[in-house]
Amino acid sequence: MRYATIDLAAVTRNIEAMRALVGPASTMAVVKANAYGHGAVPVARAALEGGADWLGVVDLDEALELRAAGVEAPVFAWLHDPAADFDVAVEHGIDVGVSYLDQLERAAAASGRPSVHLKVDTGLGRNGIAPADWPAVFAAARAHESAGRLEIRGLWTHLAGADDDAQLDRFDDARAAAAAAGLEPEFVHVGATGAALRNPRARLDLVRLGIGTYGISPFDDTDAAGLALTPVMTLSATVVSSKRVAAGTGVSYGHDYVTDRETTLVLVPLGYADGIPRHASSRGPVSINGTTYRVAGRVAMDQFVLDVGDDVVSVGDRAILFGDPSTGVPSVDDWATAAGTINYEIVTRIGNRVKRVYAGPTPPVPARGEAS
Ligand SMILES: *Cc1c(COP(=O)(O)O)cnc(C)c1O
Repeated sequence: MRYATIDLAAVTRNIEAMRALVGPASTMAVVKANAYGHGAVPVARAALEGGADWLGVVDLDEALELRAAGVEAPVFAWLHDPAADFDVAVEHGIDVGVSYLDQLERAAAASGRPSVHLKVDTGLGRNGIAPADWPAVFAAARAHESAGRLEIRGLWTHLAGADDDAQLDRFDDARAAAAAAGLEPEFVHVGATGAALRNPRARLDLVRLGIGTYGISPFDDTDAAGLALTPVMTLSATVVSSKRVAAGTGVSYGHDYVTDRETTLVLVPLGYADGIPRHASSRGPVSINGTTYRVAGRVAMDQFVLDVGDDVVSVGDRAILFGDPSTGVPSVDDWATAAGTINYEIVTRIGNRVKRVYAGPTPPVPARGEAS
């Protein structure tokens, strides 16, 4: 009764649209966190169909999930347990991000020759080699590379979205320091969706496209349509109860909502355990049969209520929380606003009880006798 319908054709189109804009830079479809809640393996396949060159994940377990499903494209994983087993990365052909000297030493000690992308901190203050350490770490990396213990395939950083140009200047310094140490990485990369779409300087060899892949805008001043992107996820549930109640009926925990007239209450079986933000209580928009209602009272763990007045809503009708707003339903952005958060958080939190249903064109079946 709970569905996240995933439009895989939209994933393919979104990648194509962004590739057209950022070319000749290569593209990495970021499918971490179960593809932002959309399902890592099917989204990865649809992104590759759209011409993505790489897949990006956070850790090796996520990378192995792709490999286990038979995905053979280049995969990059960048945040590791301090005891991460880089032998596995070599064995499965997974490129790894390396952010500090001890991690570099671990990679160098792995059996085989790990493919490493050195991460530099240019001003986000998270992972990455601090500028003062660049000369020493780059020299160590070059020594390991010369000895055949690893390959330095990339040099990269991540932006804070505060002063991108200052960070890009610092990244130029990192490139110069890497070159001075004798490193010649094949891929220098910086931009996620936001910088990739708006700042040509951040495109370089490769861009890492997360949120745009899902048809969601990273910007406050433009929605997905403004970026020619199509929302991928539609979240809906079956109405499981519909009943007439008298004026003065309290609704949900604490009775934050009390009916002011005789009306119809309907029950939607999605709650905060499914990722529906409790902060969107009394605010979250939900469309049923073409009309948008607001959540009445508190979102509970498994369910919430809508007051639909005298509209006829029946058990079995479909309640749509968000989807493609060009079809008249609320958007992920509407839910982010209702909950006081960002659109990224809305989709990534959709829980496991919500069944992912993959829509989109099924691959053509070769005609009988036709060579495939
Ligand atoms: C998540 C992530 C991305 C993708 O960011 P979007 O804003 O979703 O495009 C890119 N690079 C890194 C390092 C990330 O963690």
